[in-house]
Amino acid sequence: KPTLYIVPTPIGNLDDITQRALTVLAQVDLIACEDTRHSGKLLSHFGIKTKTLSVHDHNERQRAQWLISKLDSGESIALVSDAGTPLISDPGYHLVSQVRAAGHPVVPLPGPCAATTALCAAGLPSDRFSFEGFLPAKSKGRQDKLQALLQEPRTMIFYESPRRVLDTLADVVTVMGPDRDVVLAREITKTFETIEGRPAAQLLAWLQEDDNRTRGEMVLMIAGFRMQDDTLPAETVKALKLLAQELP
Ligand code: SAM
Repeated sequence: KPTLYIVPTPIGNLDDITQRALTVLAQVDLIACEDTRHSGKLLSHFGIKTKTLSVHDHNERQRAQWLISKLDSGESIALVSDAGTPLISDPGYHLVSQVRAAGHPVVPLPGPCAATTALCAAGLPSDRFSFEGFLPAKSKGRQDKLQALLQEPRTMIFYESPRRVLDTLADVVTVMGPDRDVVLAREITKTFETIEGRPAAQLLAWLQEDDNRTRGEMVLMIAGFRMQDDTLPAETVKALKLLAQELP
């Protein structure tokens, strides 16, 4: 049955490709790539000769219709992004929704994803989390977003760029306070993998000590909001205590 497969690829360590990913990539009729040159290197490394075609943010909606016509004519397709899981801060959402609407099966393969991989080693609560993708590039927008997340109780996961991480952490200190626990996971699965967690202000100071600490690809995780007496104005605490006394 003609199918669209969603195929994750390694985020730095080629050994992380799965056996099933290799089988699917070799067997489909066409691989839709975020960047054909980039994925071409991966495919040739694994000796896969399947035809490729580009599907990125700017042509995804138009390409979707053409890819559906391929599925209609009996061809199967795999979607890959430059690294990690397609659709997770990567193209694919429009394609998947249109392919499903057209009645073709979409089969997701499990595999590498920077967000969940980072979370698993962060030492922050992982029972509930909120994936937030990239924060806005400008400080105003970033602070507004952090403000909206101020009382989010779940662990928050962000993708971050090395150019902005210091500014972002300064904004975290400003909006969420210097003591909020933050973990930065850098270069996961690669040679210089580092995972460092500290209260926001301390992590910022630690990163400022050495340029190498802000190089490469990174995932920023912020501990969820926890209600504490000293986070609330004294009047509110008093009112809450009075209310609590009246409860059965
Ligand atoms: N779809 C990908 C996934 O499943 O993780 C993410 C794509 S997004 C365009 C790229 C961002 O993911 C990078 O800017 C970085 O924040 C994060 N990232 C990707 N690979 C990483 C790695 N090896 N270590 C840390 N972060 C990584």
